[in-house]
Amino acid sequence: MKRYSIFSLARNALTGHKDWHKVWRSPDPKPYYDAVIIGGGGHGLATAYYMAREHGLTNIAVIEKGWLGGGNTGRNTTIVRSNYLFDASAHLYEHALKLWEGLSAELNYNVMFSQRGVMNLAHDQHEARDLIRRTRANQLNGIDAEWLDRDAALAFCPVLNGDPGIRYPVYGSTLQRRAGTARHDAVAWGYARGADAMGVDIIQNCELTGFDFDQGRITGIRTTRGSIRTPKVGVVASGHSSLIADMAGIRLPLESHPLQALVSEPVKPIIDTVVMSNAVHAYVSQSDKGELVIGAGIDHHLSYTQRGGFDVVETTVAAVVELFPIFSRLRMMRQWGGIVDISPDASAIISRTPVDGLYFNCGWGTGGFKATPGSGHVFADLVANGRPNALCAPYTLERFSSGALVAEHGAAAVAH
Ligand SMILES: Cc1cc2nc3c(=O)[nH]c(=O)nc-3n(C[C@H](O)[C@H](O)[C@H](O)COP(=O)(O)OP(=O)(O)OC[C@H]3O[C@@H](n4cnc5c(N)ncnc54)[C@H](O)[C@@H]3O)c2cc1C
Repeated sequence: MKRYSIFSLARNALTGHKDWHKVWRSPDPKPYYDAVIIGGGGHGLATAYYMAREHGLTNIAVIEKGWLGGGNTGRNTTIVRSNYLFDASAHLYEHALKLWEGLSAELNYNVMFSQRGVMNLAHDQHEARDLIRRTRANQLNGIDAEWLDRDAALAFCPVLNGDPGIRYPVYGSTLQRRAGTARHDAVAWGYARGADAMGVDIIQNCELTGFDFDQGRITGIRTTRGSIRTPKVGVVASGHSSLIADMAGIRLPLESHPLQALVSEPVKPIIDTVVMSNAVHAYVSQSDKGELVIGAGIDHHLSYTQRGGFDVVETTVAAVVELFPIFSRLRMMRQWGGIVDISPDASAIISRTPVDGLYFNCGWGTGGFKATPGSGHVFADLVANGRPNALCAPYTLERFSSGALVAEHGAAAVAH
């Protein structure tokens, strides 16, 4: 892999940018791989990267039906934090956050991770009690978490509406200072580049259409670019996971809903943190280009259309203007949707399946971007070694029959 540095940048600038190399190859699928990962989003590419780097598996492929990062990875609002309530989630998301902190250096690719802090607002005493409980739980798990009272919250983010008479006044807020945002598609590209350099084949425009089995074991996959023999398949297809599980005769406990986001016209720096409000179903940050990046609650109908209803945009914008009257004259420039895979306890499924050699990593719903490095890291271990490590053991499919749920609806921060 050609390393990027200030010197390569300067050299290319002075020589007309003619010497940049392709960031990854575009190979044709081989007839056999030791393992195949389905889905070229951040999670799938991170999985392949760690399988090669940590488990020495380099005869592997990632197949992607569209383009890298074209799913939820390239559609999300990029909030990264680890302040989840339960121990299992706190440990997994904190593992991811620690990987985020060294990711640009590790990949030699700038993922623009910006630790600008994330606030979760409380609007009344009940919400405050919930959030203070979560703050204390985070502290017990060694996660940086603070509780800000109303004045401290308004001082930390002065553009918030401080009027106590509004429908949802600011009562207080959690703050995780190490949390923040990252550049979504750079994460996919950075992992793709790193994996490709270790020999992983990354195959775009190649859709999985079926599996081959022999006596309850995976023996291969069928794709729009031919059949591939392989003993191991890891599926990381977010909103399309249940369709793929269906190809193997497995019913996953997932619902697929559209989740929308929108951005405003670019403005000068006005908000230097991320503000989330579960009650009003809106959250805001500002991108490096100056656009306000705004997220919403899910559309409540099931769909695979990758766009949502106008009513959600309308209520989200109304909520944002209530929280930040200063934004009321901004024009909204773009709106889009992704299909999120929501499990009954709002936690991920990182699991073996009843089919030998077939593994799923899904159910990240509205909040999996933040987990990308950690999710790839633990899933790589699961697929490579065939047994869950301590971080992913709580996320098996069996929990939906045993009742050992990881109920994170409260910390998911997007209402569903
Ligand atoms: C609007 C929106 C805002 C969000 N905001 C946040 C946020 O702020 N913070 C956060 O943590 N999370 C957020 N999320 C959730 C986050 O985006 C996802 O959890 C995460 O990106 C999932 O990554 P992934 O790699 O698993 O999935 P994806 O990036 O969706 O990748 C899956 C890939 O599988 C491919 N695929 C599907 N079917 C097949 C097939 N049959 N054959 C081959 N390939 C296939 C798809 O084309 C896709 O590229 C948001 C999501 C949306 C939609």
